[in-house]
Amino acid sequence: MNTEIVTLDEKEIDPVIIARAGEIIKNGGLVAFPTETVYGLGGDAFNPDSSRKIYAAKGRPSDNPLIVHIADTEDLKKVTSEIPVSAQKLADAFWPGPLTMIFKKSPDIPRETTGGLDTVAVRMPSDRIAAEFIKASGGFVAAPSANLSGKPSPTEARYVIEDMNGRIDMIIDGGESQVGLESTIVDLTEDTPVILRPGYITEKMISEVLGSEVIFDKAIVEVASDVAPKAPGMKYRHYAPKAPLTIVEGDPGDVVAKINELGNQDNACGKKVAVIASSENIPGYDGSFIIKDVGSFDHEEEAAHLLFRTLRELDDQGADVIYSEAFKESGVGYATMNRLIKAAGHHILKIRR
Ligand code: AMP
Ligand code: MG
Repeated sequence: MNTEIVTLDEKEIDPVIIARAGEIIKNGGLVAFPTETVYGLGGDAFNPDSSRKIYAAKGRPSDNPLIVHIADTEDLKKVTSEIPVSAQKLADAFWPGPLTMIFKKSPDIPRETTGGLDTVAVRMPSDRIAAEFIKASGGFVAAPSANLSGKPSPTEARYVIEDMNGRIDMIIDGGESQVGLESTIVDLTEDTPVILRPGYITEKMISEVLGSEVIFDKAIVEVASDVAPKAPGMKYRHYAPKAPLTIVEGDPGDVVAKINELGNQDNACGKKVAVIASSENIPGYDGSFIIKDVGSFDHEEEAAHLLFRTLRELDDQGADVIYSEAFKESGVGYATMNRLIKAAGHHILKIRR
């Protein structure tokens, strides 16, 4: 298949290109598009064939549900069968934005879109290109992240091109994703809201708006356990770079010393060593390593923004082995660590004194 690659400027969105992208979706085709979280791989949410094509293009297991993207809160009614008061409050507070909510689905939404579930995930992105594209597509775009299954989510069009060129109809390049991590997912189908996937919208932000308790799905908290996650996709190995990745956790001085020691051993075996590090620690590392700066200790949003890009760059640079510092788990840092732990296949080295 020939994939058309187009570039859009969010300050001056070309209506002709947006209309063409919308037509592709209405005709059952697939378009990758930018959002503020990561790039999405979109198809018509009401068309079961479109959803099947999305799974095929990604090489994704078909029990891993898609998120339905809308551009108008009113449209929530058309994809759900029940809208709890809590959802209305969260939509008022965080939509458009990086929050996905789980609802009981409308019978009109095909099970192909929801991975066979009776529930549906819905999000209204804030990215302007995404919003215009969704409107031009008829208002309901089912989309997972636009990466091949198992690879890091794409935060720039060049990574979408790497994974999807020749597999879909169109790729819209809208520049770098602002947040860089996938949306927070909260399940509102039970009495207590449950966070199924941490993200930029934190537990604290959600519980403040609801004025009630919010819990995390057990599979998130007990990351190294065998607890089956409620968000089906979370069970698959995700976000993985090609090289084995180890997280090293402890006091900064100890972490730097340990990574230097391990990295030098790898170097001696002829391996190309890479380190994902906080800005403050960088001067301490061996100069022979590939060093990836993901920002200061105190700027957790920067590490969130840079993590997936960094993993992709390390693939391109041919790293044989990767070490990463553990990041502070406050704010969005909790979500960053959740993705990093998955990328590392739970391989964490804890240094205790
Ligand atoms: P992606 O955008 O690629 O991360 O894929 C969407 C993710 O949303 C899936 O992997 C699931 O974890 C989650 N999701 C979508 N629909 C549902 C649902 N009905 N119930 C629980 N989780 C869902
Ligand atoms: Mg994904």
